[in-house]
Amino acid sequence: MPSGRVHNLINIAAYSVLAAGALYTTRAGLWVVTPTQALNFTLAFAAGTFLLSPDLDLAEGRVDSKRHWGLLGFLWVPYGMVFSHRGLSHTWVVGPLTRLAYLAIVTVIVVGLLRYLLPGLEMPAIPQPLDTKFLIPLVAGYYLSQWLHLIADGVRPDHGLRRSARKRRR
Ligand SMILES: [Zn+2]
Repeated sequence: MPSGRVHNLINIAAYSVLAAGALYTTRAGLWVVTPTQALNFTLAFAAGTFLLSPDLDLAEGRVDSKRHWGLLGFLWVPYGMVFSHRGLSHTWVVGPLTRLAYLAIVTVIVVGLLRYLLPGLEMPAIPQPLDTKFLIPLVAGYYLSQWLHLIADGVRPDHGLRRSARKRRR
C-alpha cells in the first residue's frame, strides 16, 4: 500500500501531465478551458489530494492527510473511528461522498458552536447558488484525485459492490 507521500507524488505527477495536456489542446484550439474552470479543478484536486484523502479512515492514528489539517486534524478522529481502513471510505462513488458529508456535518457543528459562544461573530457567507459551470470542474477535480488514490491502492471500481454482494449471499 503506498504511503501518503507516494500518493501525493502520484497525484502531483498526474496533475502535471493533465495540465500540460489541457494547455496543449487549448492552444491547439481543440477545446476551451477558462481560467476559472482550471482554477476550480485545481483547487478541488488539491483539496482531494491533500485534505480529503481516503486514508483519513486512519485518522484515529497518525496519517499524512490528517497532518495537513494542522491543529484541526483532531476533527477527523471520529471519521477514522467510524470508517474501517479501506472499507466504505475506499469505494469509488460513495467513499468520496462520505468525506464531503462528514466535512459538512463538522462545519455545521463548528459554526453552530461559534455562533453560540460568540453571538456577534460575522461568518463568511456560502456563495450560492453554485453554477454547473463551476460545479463540473470541482466534481471532476475532486473525484479524479480520489480515484488516483484508489487506483494506486489497487482498489477496483466494484470494491463496495462486491463486499455488499458477498454479505447478501451469506
Ligand atoms: Zn488508501
